[in-house]
Amino acid sequence: MTHVLTLNAGSSSLKFGLFALGASDPSAVSTGLVEEIGSDCARIHASSGDGEVIADNRPEPIQDDAVALDRVLALLGHHYPDVRISAVGHRIVHGGQDIVSPQPLSEEVLKKLERLSPLAPLHQPQNLLVARIAMARFPKALQIACFDTAFHRHHPWVNDVFALPREYYDKGVRRYGFHGLSYEYISDHLRRTAPLFHAGRVIVAHLGNGASMCAMVSGRSVGSTMGFSALDGLPMGTRCGQLDPGVLLYLMEQEGMSASEIADLLYKHSGLLGLSGLSHDMRTLEKADTPETRQAISYFTFRIRRELGALAAVLGGLDTVVFTGGIGENSRLIRDRVCGDMGWLGIELDHDANADNNRIISTDLSRVSVMVIPTNEELVIARAAALHLASEATKVHDRS
Ligand code: ADP
Repeated sequence: MTHVLTLNAGSSSLKFGLFALGASDPSAVSTGLVEEIGSDCARIHASSGDGEVIADNRPEPIQDDAVALDRVLALLGHHYPDVRISAVGHRIVHGGQDIVSPQPLSEEVLKKLERLSPLAPLHQPQNLLVARIAMARFPKALQIACFDTAFHRHHPWVNDVFALPREYYDKGVRRYGFHGLSYEYISDHLRRTAPLFHAGRVIVAHLGNGASMCAMVSGRSVGSTMGFSALDGLPMGTRCGQLDPGVLLYLMEQEGMSASEIADLLYKHSGLLGLSGLSHDMRTLEKADTPETRQAISYFTFRIRRELGALAAVLGGLDTVVFTGGIGENSRLIRDRVCGDMGWLGIELDHDANADNNRIISTDLSRVSVMVIPTNEELVIARAAALHLASEATKVHDRS
């Protein structure tokens, strides 16, 4: 049987998935992650496709992504010795202005993607580094890049532009939007399981350590809260979200901060962590229940509600809201706070269904349906790799 490995490299984590390809949708053999890479207390967690834990290792030193990937491959080799990997699928944060679909990776494509690193300095170099390591480890496998920006590339011009002199738009200063693989999964899931919802006006709230919202019509993105970088829109675990550009001028001119100091502040010390002074992690904030953590949660939900109204205006109305991501899938408190007193927008939450993390958490009478759908970016990558493998096989067949 053919297998696909999926890799999703974050700033200090590496998520992976091993998928078997058969006649139907790719099926997960194992998924997991290595976290705190680059420290002495990195950890590997992995489960089998049916949810059984196969690794929950004690903290150990893992100095970089190359070592992390080797540890993952050793783990998978130990548990699944007969697996042969035919394709490796990568999550790549930035595909630039033109890329609207997954691309096979070659040296030429990598060079093109490297030129986009200034647009996503904290993610793109890491993604490409892991792609290069995987290409060296699996020289014969097909390598496929799947892009977080691709899902949003059909935005109308007004949702793609900043009101700067036009030359900056031409240079690529645009609203790219991110979390595209997660939104693609939700869109496709609705198409398969709830086609009427898919056909309508949907707002998806992807609420994890990174957080954004996407407005869709008939499954296609028409607006997103994230813009040029992965900083805009909602406040996140450690990222600030929407900020008046005047604040940047103030930080430079009055506080004498350099570009890298400001980047560090906005990406790593702001958001829920900055406001609470305690943690980036929603579970910790919910448990702590101090005045500062309550305020951090209030700002988070206030911004989500504000964007919900704004995106509903972009859509000209609203039929469905979907919560996804670690917070969206699990935090009944956040969903409750976001949906409370939203009757004016047609949202009536069913509090029991919400408390049980049900798939549909709105009442039968609610004009807008509210859903909880666990996202699966790894599956989107595996599907793209499966499609490319199948088309390669067809080409070989046609040539022979
Ligand atoms: P990433 O963006 O890194 O993929 P996740 O989607 O895994 O992040 O989301 C991580 C966030 O989800 C953390 O803030 C975590 O606290 C939160 N989370 C996970 N489970 C729960 C829960 N039961 N209640 C509240 N928050 C949760």
